[in-house]
Amino acid sequence: MSFSGYKNIIEEGDTVILYFNREVAFFAQVKTGDLFSCRFGSYKHEDMIGQPFGLKLTSHTGRGFVYLLHPTPELWTLVVPHRTQIIYTADIAFISTYLDLKPGVKVIESGTGSGSFSHSIARTIGQTGHLYTFEYHLERSELARAEFLLHGLQDGVTVQNRDVCKDGFGLDNEVDAVFLDLPAPWEAVESAKKAIKKNTTGRICTFSPCIEQVQRSCAALAENGFTEICTFECLTRGYESKSVAMPTLDQAIRNLKTKVLKRKADKSQAYGQKRDKDVNGSENDSPEEDSLVPVKSVNSLPVSKPVLDLRGHTSYLTFAVLPPVFFEN
Ligand code: SAM
Repeated sequence: MSFSGYKNIIEEGDTVILYFNREVAFFAQVKTGDLFSCRFGSYKHEDMIGQPFGLKLTSHTGRGFVYLLHPTPELWTLVVPHRTQIIYTADIAFISTYLDLKPGVKVIESGTGSGSFSHSIARTIGQTGHLYTFEYHLERSELARAEFLLHGLQDGVTVQNRDVCKDGFGLDNEVDAVFLDLPAPWEAVESAKKAIKKNTTGRICTFSPCIEQVQRSCAALAENGFTEICTFECLTRGYESKSVAMPTLDQAIRNLKTKVLKRKADKSQAYGQKRDKDVNGSENDSPEEDSLVPVKSVNSLPVSKPVLDLRGHTSYLTFAVLPPVFFEN
């Protein structure tokens, strides 16, 4: 089975995303005899075999159902076993765009961590590209390698167990883009520069939660000849859709006039002038204005409204470009 292609029918050994709702999803490695149980029901793996991806499967207890989805990098990010902090889809999309990842691109990633971003990179660069991913934690690197094999990504991904800050990437003039999700990315910048192809525009991104880390990375990038250094923060603003009562233009004008009059009346009352004005025949005597009571709106329109809080700070994203070298001195 492969994350980079699609198949229709679920077979023994396949990875299936068990999608219950937007908040609840798991994965299963389909194996005859196994059972998946959670508070949303109980599902026999053999009931999945031979079924098409996308099927809505009813729990064998009769209560609950699940959608059996084909894995994609986005769904994998929802269900991946967390061995570390991971990168989520909003950041993944932003980084992939700014690193100009596309089919055929060769990329360095470090550390591999839980492999959340690696799956997405592998799909984006396709079979003509290559991902070199580096992880200094032995067990994590072995688990990632096994996962890539299970997901059919082994030909396009090389996992190396190595401390890239101490020993570098060991690559020379090889890749188009570098992504660093490390505690001290500045220590890997010089080696990243060596790994980037000399005759093309190389791109780099560092992913760091603290601004002090960003400052050190920016300094190292500038020292090593990177240009267009730029830092972003990727935040999410939610939108809620609801129906709101919309006044017609006439109703809106009428309601506005009422508000203005009320404000005037309140003001003059506050200054003790209301009685004087009434005696002298103030604007409140106008029959037109007296009749200005707010009108209830009758039209109901669906609108989307942004919710106030911005969520999603995971890290700062610092991008830079390494210009091509046409003539070596
Ligand atoms: N981007 C990954 C993902 O989406 O799943 C998560 C990466 S995780 C936050 C950082 C990883 O970098 C950890 O697994 C850690 O062991 C590894 N790491 C830290 N310093 C390293 C170094 N000097 N060389 C290689 N890997 C390193």
